[in-house]
Amino acid sequence: MEDSMFKTKLNRYIDAGFPIIYINTFEESKVDDLIRQVGVGNEIIEWNESRGYIDFATGTPLMEDCTLEMMLNQLKVPELLERKIIVLKDVVPYLEEPRIVSKIKGIVRLINQGVDATVIIVSSVLSVPKELEKFVTILELDYLEVDEIKQVIINFINSNRLSMVKETLINEFAVAFKGLTEFEIENLLALSYSDDGELTRSDLRVIFDQKQQMIKKAGILEMIPLKETVDDIGGLENLKEWFIKKAKVFKNMDSAQKFGVDIPKGVLIAGVPGCGKSLNAKAAANLFEVPLLRLDMGRLMGKYVGESEGNLRKAIALAEAISPCVLWIDELEKAFAGIGGDGGGNDVTVRLFGNFLTWMQEKTSPAFVVATANDITKLPPELLRKGRFDEIFYVGLPNEREREKIFRIHLSKRRSKDVGTINIRSLVAKTNGFSGADIEGVVKDAIESAFSNDKDTVSTEDVLTAINNTHSLSELMKEALEKMQKEYETRKFKNASR
Ligand code: ATP
Repeated sequence: MEDSMFKTKLNRYIDAGFPIIYINTFEESKVDDLIRQVGVGNEIIEWNESRGYIDFATGTPLMEDCTLEMMLNQLKVPELLERKIIVLKDVVPYLEEPRIVSKIKGIVRLINQGVDATVIIVSSVLSVPKELEKFVTILELDYLEVDEIKQVIINFINSNRLSMVKETLINEFAVAFKGLTEFEIENLLALSYSDDGELTRSDLRVIFDQKQQMIKKAGILEMIPLKETVDDIGGLENLKEWFIKKAKVFKNMDSAQKFGVDIPKGVLIAGVPGCGKSLNAKAAANLFEVPLLRLDMGRLMGKYVGESEGNLRKAIALAEAISPCVLWIDELEKAFAGIGGDGGGNDVTVRLFGNFLTWMQEKTSPAFVVATANDITKLPPELLRKGRFDEIFYVGLPNEREREKIFRIHLSKRRSKDVGTINIRSLVAKTNGFSGADIEGVVKDAIESAFSNDKDTVSTEDVLTAINNTHSLSELMKEALEKMQKEYETRKFKNASR
């Protein structure tokens, strides 16, 4: 949303007498600016944790040592409330206190009876107590479109009288800034410019690192550095091939769409732990040549009413702003366990799940979802229906050919000069029931023990010893694996392996 649109909305809400406007943003100072512009003609007062009750425009304290409760107490007199905008900051923890909530409700009652006033809550956390839900209108400062970002860059160049920057570089900067707010973009531009007084290609690296941190700070998404490629995956040929086909569409979205191809939505990869599900999410982003964002389902689930949904909406908005990207939803079953099954699921998870399904169904942005799950028996059946994901794959324990490749990959990574002398076939024969992660562990152990024993090379024997000392995944969870395997076969999911 452009500022002007945000301003218009804020104006409209205040004029229409909406009692509480909740501005969900990290950009406090920018919002201050907007409130100042919109609030002309009103008296604006503020409460915040560090300074207490102050005059919004000047910052002058209006009452010494004033707690939030004391301030709200004062405002219960209609004459004192008239023509006021009350800005509340740092109040999220207080919204858990019934006394505070009831005082805010008292103010809302007066506003609804005709007193001309508005409460504006400004916070980076979205948390609305149930009792206030129907009086609250949420406003968010949205991410900028690429053209808007370009304008911010050009304005920055002009106002700092920087030397000409090539159009192609401005475009690259604009793409790097996707998913950041105007305030963050301006800060990063200032940072890039401060080292040598110019904006150059070398600043892109800094911007990328900073962006990674900013996204992490926002809390729900993480930007994962891309190191792994399809060549790091042993086996899983069907899945890899599928990704390669989708990559062709993804990288040529315009012409593909003109040709009549649908935008790829995403894939669900289910199956045995440690067999390359995460590896595939990373390799996919690499193939698609786009950033990889990991959504932490555990962190998404907030403790306040509406917080989880707010978080999901924010995560989706951020992913769409950064798109084209791969949105990796790890351990999907953790979030949606119990829905549709016997467990029932609680209201929040059911609603969250509904929101997620609707988004998946209606999604038109190039945010490609890679969802991974260990146990699909815990997932609601609606999720597995056609149309949500383009395809559902299951990943089982690696077969002989695959184990050979996995050994080769991990040995070559660490001891490329020994690969030729190690009898990989004999290792394969001894590792039936091992996962990819087990094999990687065996290789690491063998190398470490050869080193500890002052050997110059790693031999077949070293690896065989490590194998004998390992309890494989299938040894540890035999029954669960067999059950899972059957489940996948009856549901006719595609096998990731050939
Ligand atoms: P989890 O469900 O436990 O997260 P996962 O299926 O996502 O497991 P990964 O994280 O992809 O498993 O695999 C763990 C590690 O095991 C990887 O970092 C990789 O080194 C190794 N590995 C697993 N499968 C393969 C494979 N097919 N080829 C090469 N390495 C593999």
